[in-house]
Amino acid sequence: MSAPSNSSPAGGPLVEGPADPEHDPAASYALEPEYVERLTSRLLATSGRTVQVDSPLNGAPLAHVPQSTDADVAEAYARARKAQAAWARTPIDERAAMLLRLHDLVLDRQDEIIDLIVLESGKARKHAFDEPLHIALTARYYARTAHQHLDTQRKIGVIPALTRVEVNRVPKGVVGIISPWNYPFTMALCDGLPALLAGNAVVAKPDAQTMLSALLGARLLDEAGFPKDLWQVVAGPGRELGPAIIGEADYICFTGSTATGKVIARQCAERLIGCSLELGGKNPILVLRDADLEKAAEGAVRASFSNAGQLCVSIERMFVADQVYDRFVERFVARTQAMTLGATLEWGNDMGSLISQDQLDTVVAHVEDAVAKGARVLAGGKARPDLGPYYFEPTILEGVTPEMTCFGHETFGPVISVYRFHDEAEAVARANDGEYGLNGSIYSQDGDRARALARQITCGTVNINEAFGATFASIDSPMGGMRESGMGRRQGSEGIHRYTESQSVGTQRGLRFAPMFGMSDEAYAKMMTTSLRLMNKLGRA
Ligand code: NAD
Repeated sequence: MSAPSNSSPAGGPLVEGPADPEHDPAASYALEPEYVERLTSRLLATSGRTVQVDSPLNGAPLAHVPQSTDADVAEAYARARKAQAAWARTPIDERAAMLLRLHDLVLDRQDEIIDLIVLESGKARKHAFDEPLHIALTARYYARTAHQHLDTQRKIGVIPALTRVEVNRVPKGVVGIISPWNYPFTMALCDGLPALLAGNAVVAKPDAQTMLSALLGARLLDEAGFPKDLWQVVAGPGRELGPAIIGEADYICFTGSTATGKVIARQCAERLIGCSLELGGKNPILVLRDADLEKAAEGAVRASFSNAGQLCVSIERMFVADQVYDRFVERFVARTQAMTLGATLEWGNDMGSLISQDQLDTVVAHVEDAVAKGARVLAGGKARPDLGPYYFEPTILEGVTPEMTCFGHETFGPVISVYRFHDEAEAVARANDGEYGLNGSIYSQDGDRARALARQITCGTVNINEAFGATFASIDSPMGGMRESGMGRRQGSEGIHRYTESQSVGTQRGLRFAPMFGMSDEAYAKMMTTSLRLMNKLGRA
């Protein structure tokens, strides 16, 4: 890899991460054909067509991925349905034990997983590590809490002692999972783990750019002991395969853009099936006047530039209290300029590449538009073809105004706009501006005050003194978006109950719900009225 010129337009050094000039990157990043074959053989894909996947690290071809047809999707559902019927009878403890085996497998095999993620996505190794980490956390959480979520629960019967009511959690059947490229291993897998635990099968359609990471996930499920037919994988453009996937699913779990989410919601509505939609965001961070500025600057770098900003919960709008604005921004800019950059497989880079030319084009367009309309670049601001074909520097903009595209539109790249605020009510109003509501972050040394402020932020998750990890990695807490950032939640009890139908079973003894012993309808109504009044006096629900 050639040595970069290490300076940003704003003057600070941007240091390249470890690189080995001896290496031929194209050769060293090639995958063994047998390895690719082992992964792609896990696909149902009979079209005879393949799609070439290139590595964003160097633009060189990585693999050819066979493509599926609508008939493959139908076959995937047929196999999944058959497997699901047996799986639903498998005891919960056996299902949970498989999840715990998966937990250990992803930790043991993390080098292989991370290599593949980096090769396919171009992200920094440390950001790729977050993916097996998230799968291990999710697998362990659901395995250990399986009974809490899935066991039959007693409810309050209408007539104490005589009406016994319990609620069963019945699996929906086969869940269709459509996932994006940005976290190609965990996004393809994490939502499916509670679906399996709840007794469902899955038909997965990962993004075309990152099929291999998703297929490795499917292989690891096989190794963990899950019946192979329970998890089907198909490959192809979402627009082509989407209708077939939604057409046979009992539930759809979608993660991706808001525009696609609306298309999917309409198709699910036609069939009256449920869906969860984890969509885009334009996430705000608030740095209050009492924030620890060093901690806030460190957190702001992670909030803005993790996975080169290609992260649904990453922060793109920063509101900083007037009293600390200059001191904070100076620290934030210095930390950003000190980041180590590189498109390599090695540890040590603070930020990797964008995934594709499309992503780079969007980021360049947003920054050029902002600069042309008067925004100032405080750090970064340009593409770095010397580091990799789709590389863009971590970029801080000041003076962004509503007529600039990046003011309200998701960039999904390493670009953050910094704004000054004078009072907190104004900061909250600006943070809540727009249509999105995914994730927010607040930095303050007063936890109570920050938690009170969090309630006013219209976002599905709010992290205090942290970027996004405090909620995202706490699998017991629900994660998802308000407004145009989505519907439904992943994680926690909502993340598993979405894949079940609740079935109430009531058993009546003694009294029946009709006049008895020759009682008239009127006498029955009077008796019921008296008992309702009595129950209220007794404080019963
Ligand atoms: P996208 O909507 O273009 O694609 C996501 C997936 O949907 C891919 O698998 C794609 O093939 C499929 N798809 C596309 N059109 C489809 C259609 N008509 N029918 C069925 N499937 C279709 O999104 P993207 O650009 O790849 O991903 C980036 C977006 O995803 C960003 O907006 C980001 O914020 C969002 N995202 C959200 C979360 C979250 O948890 N909220 C997580 C990751 C990414």
